[in-house]
Amino acid sequence: MKRPGIDLAECTRCEGCIALCPGVFRVNQAGFLEAVELDSYPVEQVDEAIKNCPAHCIRWEEE
Ligand code: SF4
Repeated sequence: MKRPGIDLAECTRCEGCIALCPGVFRVNQAGFLEAVELDSYPVEQVDEAIKNCPAHCIRWEEE
């Protein structure tokens, strides 16, 4: 199972990933970006968010 992971050291919190893929990415209570836990992810939308992340800090991670 692969899920999107965010390198928070690089994330600028631009929220572009949320605009492109609101069902997956969100700001958590601590104010950081995170990917919600899902049984399956919309691969094309996540790939689009990965491609457009200005900090290049989203990647698929194997669980
Ligand atoms: S698009 Fe990239 S830099 Fe912008 S909030 Fe999402 S993970 Fe962070």
